[in-house]
Amino acid sequence: MDETANLRGNRIAHLIAGVKLFDWDGPTKPLFDEWRELGINSVFAVSDRLAADRGFRQQAADQGIAVFIVAQLLMNQRALEANPELYAITDKGERAIEDWAHFVCPTRPEYRRARYDHFRRLVETQQPDGISLDFIRHFVFWEKLRADSPAERILESCFCDSCLQQFQADSGLHIPARLSGTAERAAWLRQEAHREFIEWKCRLISDWAADLASELKSIKPDLLVNIHTVPWLPGEYDDGLRRVAGQDLAAFAGFADYLSPMTYAGMLQRDPPWISQLVATQAKVAPGRLLPCIQLRPIGETEAAISDELFARYIDAALTPDSAGLLLFAWDWQQLAGEATKKAILQGRLAAAREARNNSTLG
Ligand SMILES: [Zn+2]
Repeated sequence: MDETANLRGNRIAHLIAGVKLFDWDGPTKPLFDEWRELGINSVFAVSDRLAADRGFRQQAADQGIAVFIVAQLLMNQRALEANPELYAITDKGERAIEDWAHFVCPTRPEYRRARYDHFRRLVETQQPDGISLDFIRHFVFWEKLRADSPAERILESCFCDSCLQQFQADSGLHIPARLSGTAERAAWLRQEAHREFIEWKCRLISDWAADLASELKSIKPDLLVNIHTVPWLPGEYDDGLRRVAGQDLAAFAGFADYLSPMTYAGMLQRDPPWISQLVATQAKVAPGRLLPCIQLRPIGETEAAISDELFARYIDAALTPDSAGLLLFAWDWQQLAGEATKKAILQGRLAAAREARNNSTLG
């Protein structure tokens, strides 16, 4: 049985160690040779170019590296530039834009169909080992929020006409006709029907993900499904994970093989115990299926450097018996050329974790 088959067949004993790789234009054989030496056994290919690269996929298969195609769903600046009518609308009545984040409204059937068709074609032609659903949530720019950022400063969405009509049709509730403008309607919804609106928002996102997963599995039944999730604890930002992002982890756990909280502790100015707490909390919802994604290096230009010691603590927090493994965030693997100590730490931790899992499986 090759390693990819092992990965599918026994997720407990053969933990996933993956790289969320944004792009790669160097030779693939030496890259995958190094990964195998380190104990990395999967790649989460982010760019469209990488996802559609048959040679990259074939080389990975030859060297036993599982390929997950990252499917970006509701963050899509290109589609929005072509058709600004698709923008999600915030509670202030403005387009859902912050920094690089441009979000599409989640109730546009043509957009949804087009995204599904795009990923159907990729799965048909590339036959990847997995699909990794990203930006499967309502608009929120969580990447620059601090732990103490006030919940009320985070914008909610989507309050466009399409979403408000759909919500009323689905819930049987009626927004009073006397209200004019998005801000008034949003205020009424939050005052009078917030719980129903949050549940509807969550269901909308879960349905997107579950329907896409089901369509893609009809093409390739052994396709693994991962979902990237906003790294918020249940109490944070006034239940922000559900209220703002519309991510219901219990619903996701009903059909996804893995959930990957984006635990970028350096970027968010959090510490390793925060990763531990998040993993322990979410493992109750998805036991043995978490793939916390950690940083090796700063993601943004102004972040502090990550020491070797801190990186080791990130790994230890992410790689617990509760998790299915871990992912590493890498803009570019070549940036890690000078990180020999971090690579050695990773190699040692992965080998020890695999040995511990094999022993506990045998025992
Ligand atoms: Zn909308």
